[in-house]
Amino acid sequence: MTAPWRATVLTLFPEMFPGPLGVSLAGRALAAGLWSLEARDIRDSATDRHRSVDDTPAGGGPGMVLRADVLAAAIDAAAIAPECPKLVMSPRGRPLAQARVRELAAGPGAMIICGRFEGIDQRVIEARNLEEVSIGDYVLSGGEIAALALIDACVRLLPGVMGKQESGAEESFSEGLLEYPQYTRPQVFEGRQIPEILTSGDHAKVAAWRTAEAESLTRARRPDMWAARIGQPGTKKATDG
Ligand code: SAH
Repeated sequence: MTAPWRATVLTLFPEMFPGPLGVSLAGRALAAGLWSLEARDIRDSATDRHRSVDDTPAGGGPGMVLRADVLAAAIDAAAIAPECPKLVMSPRGRPLAQARVRELAAGPGAMIICGRFEGIDQRVIEARNLEEVSIGDYVLSGGEIAALALIDACVRLLPGVMGKQESGAEESFSEGLLEYPQYTRPQVFEGRQIPEILTSGDHAKVAAWRTAEAESLTRARRPDMWAARIGQPGTKKATDG
């Protein structure tokens, strides 16, 4: 058997892990050995008496910057396999999308560096060939919550983590579409009915309804996704409006 998918997190706050990944789907899979997690303290790689990891920005300005030498030492000490992607969470990075999540989940795992303060020294990004990944156009106070989000997205796709029932095959982004609306009992909630088709038992009609809903939702909410879809096999033509 090959080694389970492995997340190696470099952080100043290792106590934040596994955190929310210790419960529910990800937590059960972690306990079952379907994936593994190591949170390493960047401060363990500090060399001076005060164990300092940051310093003031060159050129001036507010805040502190994580030192290249300390971070490089922390990366090297983690002894990551060469084929394992080395990521650094950063608002300047490529926005994380389901396609990259799928690639990462299909690989051996990921090393993930969590920034703090004003960020990290640019030279370590270049010297260690780090891939900058953003989880959205907003600024968090540290990379830990971003890393938790990335790991969660990967772990749920690992074989055996989600049951067949909860399979990711039909969900948002799986086919360049947002997911159709979901309903469950009760049949009537505050006067609102479940759409009749869904309780008709006609599987073909249900599938057609879901596709139509997914398409109109995507077109209304995510014109960028819709535009990227047009022209793909099996999709609507631009002239369809
Ligand atoms: N001064 C930086 C922000 C630093 S925020 C800038 O303007 O770009 C501190 C750390 O939080 C970052 O180093 C990064 O690791 C993390 N972080 C903040 N927002 C993030 C986001 N949207 N995606 C991923 N990581 C983020």
